[in-house]
Amino acid sequence: MDYGRFFEDAVAAIRNEGRYRVFADLERQAGRFPFAHHHTPRGRREVVVWCSNDYLGMGQHPATREAAVDAVMRLGTGAGGTRNISGTNHLHVMLEEELADLHGKQAALVFTSGYIANEATLSTVAKLLPDCVILSDSMNHASMIEGIRMSRCPKQVFRHNDLEHLESLLQALPRDRAKLIAFESVYSMDGDIGEIEAICDLADRYGAMTYLDEVHAVGLYGPRGGGVAEQRGLMDRLTIIQGTLAKAYGCMGGYITASSAIVDAVRSTAPGFIFTTSLAPAICAAATASVRHLKVSQTERTKHQERAATVKRRLKAVGLPVMDNPSHIVPVLVGDPVRCKQATDLLMERHGIYIQPINYPTVARGTERLRITPTPVHDDRLVDHLTEALLDVWQTLDLHRTQPTAIAAE
Ligand SMILES: *Cc1c(COP(=O)(O)O)cnc(C)c1O
Repeated sequence: MDYGRFFEDAVAAIRNEGRYRVFADLERQAGRFPFAHHHTPRGRREVVVWCSNDYLGMGQHPATREAAVDAVMRLGTGAGGTRNISGTNHLHVMLEEELADLHGKQAALVFTSGYIANEATLSTVAKLLPDCVILSDSMNHASMIEGIRMSRCPKQVFRHNDLEHLESLLQALPRDRAKLIAFESVYSMDGDIGEIEAICDLADRYGAMTYLDEVHAVGLYGPRGGGVAEQRGLMDRLTIIQGTLAKAYGCMGGYITASSAIVDAVRSTAPGFIFTTSLAPAICAAATASVRHLKVSQTERTKHQERAATVKRRLKAVGLPVMDNPSHIVPVLVGDPVRCKQATDLLMERHGIYIQPINYPTVARGTERLRITPTPVHDDRLVDHLTEALLDVWQTLDLHRTQPTAIAAE
């Protein structure tokens, strides 16, 4: 077999579909976010980043930067081992205490990423339970889908946020069979929000555990940044709450919070937790500082919501097809992978605006879009600039302006 040829053809097929991935070579500038340097073959240029998940700019906050620098100077760079073999640092323990407190749970467990937290926890918890069935929202993130697959448990997918469908699936299962419902709060690509309370009601009625991914909500919602479940007073009704330290908290790493028994079980059995070096102490220190800061400060959250609402209002006012939702995410529908890429290339070349095109498999085919994430540091001048640039691109490429009503999902 000509292996080289095989992979060249595989990539060519992806190119032909218009979904070849080009990574923007960026150099972030602490203190100057949302500006960054963009490195290209023609040199370096300053651009405005409009698609970062550093939703609040905590990655450049003095508290997080100072905590990281201080930890590097005191403890050095790497953790030096897995959690079990010399890699548990006091900073890991403190971070886990902070996170358990954030969600009002008995315990927390930190992983090297939110992806691993989902994969390792879902696969282990479901595997430990005898004969468990997993009920999974159809729009769940790839990391949850992978964890569910690795558990080798039967999976039943319910239509996105469809309570009747979920209930009909639950009804058909024996009352005493183990069940786990996995879903998200803020869905990252459409920006809609899960029916947390109603799903918890169903879980209680049919005897199911609940697993909530709050990755796009922690730090951003709730009086202490505990997410949508905190905002709605529902944290105690969820069996497991999962989050990331890499988005609103501006660092890296993922976690779960739950009862001590569940955390202990995952800690003792999940390969994705056990067999990997723990997070660097400096990351733990920065994340702890970030979580602590956002537990007491409302400034960033308030400004973030105001900015997101402003961008949505401005883009809609000029007739751009903003996909409506109740969260901070601003998706603008293009509906074609090639044109989506052209639009973002034009934004970068003509206007110095960086927005990554979102294509399949991240979203369903036909729903390709720009996913805009305003932050507290995108001021009015930058919003004006964005609005004019998008209008120019929409005119140049003759893109459609129909206001999307419902989002077509596979
Ligand atoms: C980004 C993301 C994750 C993974 O989190 P990382 O910390 O980036 O690995 C998990 N779930 C959802 C919904 C996400 O969008």
